[in-house]
Amino acid sequence: RPTVYLVPTPIGNLTEMAPRALDILNQVDVIAAEDTRNTRKLLMHYSIHKPLFACHEHNQQVAIPQVLDAIASNQSVALVSDAGYPLLSDPGQHLVETLIQKEIPVVSISGPNAALDALVASGLPCYHYMFYGFLDNKHNKRIQELETIKTFPYTMLFYEAPHRIQATLTDMLAVFGNRKMVLARELTKLHEEYLRGTISEILEVCEELKGEMVIVMAGNQKEESFDLDQAIERVIELSKTLK
Ligand code: SAM
Repeated sequence: RPTVYLVPTPIGNLTEMAPRALDILNQVDVIAAEDTRNTRKLLMHYSIHKPLFACHEHNQQVAIPQVLDAIASNQSVALVSDAGYPLLSDPGQHLVETLIQKEIPVVSISGPNAALDALVASGLPCYHYMFYGFLDNKHNKRIQELETIKTFPYTMLFYEAPHRIQATLTDMLAVFGNRKMVLARELTKLHEEYLRGTISEILEVCEELKGEMVIVMAGNQKEESFDLDQAIERVIELSKTLK
């Protein structure tokens, strides 16, 4: 049965492309990619020759029907993003919702993910955690988002760009207090590094840091209750005001 496969790609080190992910890319009829130029480079590295089309948040009106047409013509499709899992701070959410609504099989292939790599090597508790992804890039909205989750009792994972790391950690310090954190940088690459300390300690050194980074933040240790449903509702409301 024609299927849409969600295929993770390396977050840096090309050898982390999983064998099953390669098999699927070799098997499918067409590949929907966040950025066809980047995916073409990856495919060239593995000598995979498949038709590609763009599938990202700004062309959903065209890309989703393209996937549906392929399925209707009995073709299987792989969805890939530039790095890691599609959908995780990357395009694909609306496509997967549409496919499930239409009862089209969606299969996830295992592979690299920056947040999970950072979490398990951070030394902070991993039994329960929250993946937040990117905070808003505007100070006021970011503060509101952080207020919503400040009593969350478990480890939290954020993605951030190097030019915003200082502003984001400054806001985290103001809202969370001086908690323990780990900044995981350039994972799977030559200059991979884990900076462990309190928020204020990492703030002292983060200005010069470049590359890709994940913030692993300790959860709230004080006896304060956290209402998950309320927090989710609030974050959804906030993200609606951003669009
Ligand atoms: N879909 C990806 C995943 O599954 O990890 C995440 C894509 S998101 C657009 C890109 C962000 O992920 C970067 O800004 C950075 O925060 C994080 N990231 C990606 N690769 C990384 C790496 N090698 N080391 C540290 N963080 C990374």
